[in-house]
Amino acid sequence: MGQLNVFFFPMLLHGHMIPILDMAKLFASHGVKATIITTPLNARAFSKAVERTKDCGFQMSIRILKFPVVAGLPQGCENADQLPSPDMFPIFFKATFLLREQVEQVLEECRPDCLVADMFFPWATDSAAKFDIPRLVFHGTSFFALCATWQLGLHKPFKNLSNDSEPFVVPNLPHEIKLTRSQLPPHDRGGIETDLSRMLIQIKETEQRSYGVIVNSFYELEPDYADHYRNVLNIKAWHVGPVSLCNRGVEDKAQRGKKPAIDEYECLKWLDLKNPNSVIYICFGSVCKFPPSQLHELAMGLEASGQQFIWVVRKRENEKDEEEKWIPEGFEERIEGKGLIIRGWAPQVLILDHQAVGGFVTHCGWNSTLEGISAGVPMVTWPSFAEQFHNEKLVTEILRIGVAVGAQEWVQLGTDGVKRDAIEMAVKHIMVGEEAEGRRNRAKALKEMARKAIEEGGSSYSDLSALIKELSSYHF
Ligand code: UDP
Repeated sequence: MGQLNVFFFPMLLHGHMIPILDMAKLFASHGVKATIITTPLNARAFSKAVERTKDCGFQMSIRILKFPVVAGLPQGCENADQLPSPDMFPIFFKATFLLREQVEQVLEECRPDCLVADMFFPWATDSAAKFDIPRLVFHGTSFFALCATWQLGLHKPFKNLSNDSEPFVVPNLPHEIKLTRSQLPPHDRGGIETDLSRMLIQIKETEQRSYGVIVNSFYELEPDYADHYRNVLNIKAWHVGPVSLCNRGVEDKAQRGKKPAIDEYECLKWLDLKNPNSVIYICFGSVCKFPPSQLHELAMGLEASGQQFIWVVRKRENEKDEEEKWIPEGFEERIEGKGLIIRGWAPQVLILDHQAVGGFVTHCGWNSTLEGISAGVPMVTWPSFAEQFHNEKLVTEILRIGVAVGAQEWVQLGTDGVKRDAIEMAVKHIMVGEEAEGRRNRAKALKEMARKAIEEGGSSYSDLSALIKELSSYHF
């Protein structure tokens, strides 16, 4: 039996490319030949990390596909993070569906032993099957969110409510979890069929027909849900995370995804001057873009909290003037030395791992949530879209390492309406006081468990080894 050859095909979105890159590195460090399939402009986000992995003696490469020309998409837009408006997601999905023929050519030519393909490519299961290649699905979320989404889809408990803010219990889960209809994506509320809702049905159907599901999580974090997913929902799954922990050095941690807008060593120097657990880090992932009114409230709440902070503010496309309108008068002068604003991309894992960071205001994207957990940092939860409201419940009610800011409304790309007082209170709660200490201790314990999980003998290490062994004997 030769070396195992696995191809990875992430959705063209940083929140999916980053964990798949880390996952491919993990496979490579277990002796697998790992190849990432992507398009020319996205390849740039992978190339340095791939080179560094190869320098360590592991086998890794990139296979580049042409990005299809589709009417209506801005020129040079190969990544969903660059879409000027959420209305363009359907056109972007259409473009990614057109990659199918090229992917099949690659599979026919290279005959890998396995294709790990993003959930957004439901067609990849049939493409791989044509060449008798097992396809693994990568969703990029927690077992908890996967289970909640399945149970919501099966039982539709939100159907006969009097209004969108009436709480309902998600049926059949190991814990009593309440949500409201306003916290669910419109396509999951059981209304009119759209292209997106049809695609989500296809995704569920391929989840069951594929070889299995690969999850960026670790067993000790959500054992009830890892068991529920496998034993109650009957889906074959392997957990291999937290994958971000494969990044050990400063450069590996800093150069994930885009080039940071701040020099990583400058950032570390700023943090080195602060006491342990004295800085709160605020970042809402790779796509969330709050309107100026919400940024203004956040600035006011943050200042009122009296805490030191690093705040990452996404630049909105073509909004140069408006961009700065949110800054309260004299804000930057008053926060000098106490607060650092990063406009653009931040070296997130590097920041979270610094001992000065004692809290994280997050939109609950799963990567950020798991990176916060891996760093042992308690969180202020501020979900906005996707499955972020599910992840919030895991953090605040099951793991009890978070305080909710009180976001109630599912809004694609970024909420509005969270008031400064709520922000001030949540930030204070997470940073100071007896309860904060309890949350911090629980977060630190999870950090230790996360690290053990990916070390030799740990649950994720063992699951990955078992998966590799199983794939190696697939054709025998
Ligand atoms: N990220 C980063 N710097 C930033 C913003 C995001 O490194 O300024 C990374 C973050 O560490 C995480 C990913 O981008 O790995 C965001 O994924 P997540 O699932 O949290 O949110 P999404 O972007 O998908 O909404």
